Amino acid sequence: MQPKKNIVHLPVYQPGKPIDEVKRELGLTEVIKLASNENPFGSSPKAKEAIASLLDQTSIYPDGGAVELTAAVAAHLGVEPNQVIFGAGSDEIILMICRAFLVPGDEMITAWPTFPQYKHNAEIEGAVTIEVPVTADGKHDLDEMIARISDKTKIVWICNPNNPTGTMNTEDEIRAFLKAVPAHVLVVLDEAYAEYNMSGKYPDAVALLKEHANIVLLRTFSKIYGLASLRVGYGAGRAEVIRSINQVREPFNTSSFGQKAAIAALQDNNFIEFCREANAKGIKQLWAKFDELGLPYFDAHGNFVMVDVKRSGSEVFQGLLKKGIIVRHDPAWGYPTMIRVTVGSEEQNGKFLKALEQVLSEVAVS
Ligand SMILES: *Cc1c(COP(=O)(O)O)cnc(C)c1O
Repeated sequence: MQPKKNIVHLPVYQPGKPIDEVKRELGLTEVIKLASNENPFGSSPKAKEAIASLLDQTSIYPDGGAVELTAAVAAHLGVEPNQVIFGAGSDEIILMICRAFLVPGDEMITAWPTFPQYKHNAEIEGAVTIEVPVTADGKHDLDEMIARISDKTKIVWICNPNNPTGTMNTEDEIRAFLKAVPAHVLVVLDEAYAEYNMSGKYPDAVALLKEHANIVLLRTFSKIYGLASLRVGYGAGRAEVIRSINQVREPFNTSSFGQKAAIAALQDNNFIEFCREANAKGIKQLWAKFDELGLPYFDAHGNFVMVDVKRSGSEVFQGLLKKGIIVRHDPAWGYPTMIRVTVGSEEQNGKFLKALEQVLSEVAVS
């Protein structure tokens, strides 16, 4: 038996350690996880009620077409229902896009560092990923990405705000970019953190959809809506493009619980507003202390901040872990002295900053 050649070298995804395991291993009573950009405020109470209302229906298959949720999201965006598709998280839509559009030998272009799932899924299809390093201030280098487009290019992925750097490309920049992209190339705008954006310069991707046939935008219920465990994300684009992605979709890829909770979450504007405001305050709280400590950081437009701790990022990560704070550091980012921290509640941020200050005094400057 032989699996296909292009997956042999792929790593199995290593999830972060569960909080309970970290507690047990290190003998800690409190552990704060600021590693996966989860919502520190949970989800809307309306979403919880929606889930509770379905508890005696676990034996019934979900609505494979997610009709009610489709109508709700289409209305929310101001597009037609046939322009929307759902996945088990936007992760699954990334997978479906690769499955629908890529054959071995195709090329696609991403930033580097960026969300790893684009390249991962492209490799499974045998496609080649061209990675264009972000600029010195951590943004997608859109000019260079254009320059790397060839006849073989099928997809360009724009992660906006970019994970892990947190930076944003503005509406003007994205518009100029889209004008320069040939019509045979699909542009995926991954906007997992769109609802957090307060800059006033963030692209209106739905308006762009009306001007360009070759765009898909991706959003998720996992971040500001706080429903990561239920696995619901969506894509929106022209009906023809969405139809192609739908052709490779599994029949029951989102659960009844996810669909119902997402509909309820979409309608609770107060909760979203609260989370957006709290997040903006949290970013300022983190930045103020980073300034005091003399630590540089990238601009932040999601619910996370990438900061230069001026010391080995993996040692600072370990030091924080011993104090019960889980952040993220990945050597593959190419920033050996940076860590990414999710914006928590004011109290969590305070505990993180206190622990960070202690760890910085214990780890040598590099
Ligand atoms: C979190 C995240 C996603 C997807 O999350 P799902 O839980 O699969 O919806 C997609 N893109 C980026 C950039 C993310 O950070």
